[in-house]
Amino acid sequence: MSEFRFKKRYGQNFLTDKNTIDKIINNIKIIGKTLIIEIGPGNGALTKRLVQLNSDILCFEIDQELKPELDKINSPNLKIIYKDFLTIDLLDYIKGYEEIYVIANIPYYITTPIIEKIIKSKLNIKFMILMVQKEVADRLSAKPGSNDYGYFTVYLSYYYTVSKISNVSRKLFYPVPNVDSALIKLEIKENRIKVDEEKFFKFVKECFRFKRKNIKNNLLKYDLNIVNNVLSKYNHNLSNRAEDFTLVEFIDLFNSLNI
Ligand code: SAM
Repeated sequence: MSEFRFKKRYGQNFLTDKNTIDKIINNIKIIGKTLIIEIGPGNGALTKRLVQLNSDILCFEIDQELKPELDKINSPNLKIIYKDFLTIDLLDYIKGYEEIYVIANIPYYITTPIIEKIIKSKLNIKFMILMVQKEVADRLSAKPGSNDYGYFTVYLSYYYTVSKISNVSRKLFYPVPNVDSALIKLEIKENRIKVDEEKFFKFVKECFRFKRKNIKNNLLKYDLNIVNNVLSKYNHNLSNRAEDFTLVEFIDLFNSLNI
């Protein structure tokens, strides 16, 4: 690794702490024929431990210059694709697995696109363990009524239960980044309330359109009597804001408005 030039544009801050790697590994339980996808293996600190699990490991790394370092791992259950994860078609690489998990220590600026890509792939990824910027973790795991709770929190909560495993100090990375991180776990919700997802999320986006405005102002084009009736079931009213509502409340509103 001595001559390697770290690339800021790829968010290359490599994890150096064994305890944090242990925490990630200890959160993985292998069941059946499993594939673990690692996004951004970097210098392989985590990959080296993943290959010891009873699972195939598929990595996507954007930076070809990490190949000499990653080649040292050389394990029969490991495959590394040197491509941008955001541009590949996941379905090209994945066939015949009972369980698929995603593990990633990802640059903060691609956290949302990566999660969206995984959800849209419809691959039924059972869980993800993600290292993300601490503020992003707060946003993804926010509860209704908090400032961090927004459209993407609701979107994610439809598919996954999000919990924080731990905060991770910036000092545990090399080079040391400007922000602290947090480790989060996303577990798939097997029994979701079924909705037309495209229409539903368009509606949720409308509810959050002007975040500081109350729900009445964001839903003027709908029948506000219906909106008010639904909200009153949950002790809310038209002056509440979208950030006050749970996923179930959004679904009830959406269904009642017959959108
Ligand atoms: N997993 C390693 C660790 O924990 O130390 C490295 C983490 S580092 C924060 C992020 C890694 O993601 C880097 O190796 C970087 O090159 C890679 N990366 C950044 N953007 C990527 C993308 N779009 N697709 C695949 N890998 C990417």
